[in-house]
Amino acid sequence: MRDHSPYIEWILSDEPLPEASQSALRNHLAKCVDCRKVAAGWESARQVLTDATSAAPRNGFPQRWKALAESRAKAPNRRQVWVTLAPPALAFV
Ligand SMILES: [Zn+2]
Repeated sequence: MRDHSPYIEWILSDEPLPEASQSALRNHLAKCVDCRKVAAGWESARQVLTDATSAAPRNGFPQRWKALAESRAKAPNRRQVWVTLAPPALAFV
């Protein structure tokens, strides 16, 4: 399995990346749908945070987001499993 950690680190970094890292990240994003999802999700989350200036994130927000992103990257089929299991569960409602 590919290791996405450095790329996720770069996506979530607030520091400007060195040119070499930027191009490595661009190359990886071109090939990796998981990291593209992380990048898109992070970008829209940051947009929401920027818009909602009165609602500052609690301490550790980037760390929590990173942990979530990494757990999703490790288990990309979790949602499909849930969808598969959902109909029988709903039959009892
Ligand atoms: Zn990746």
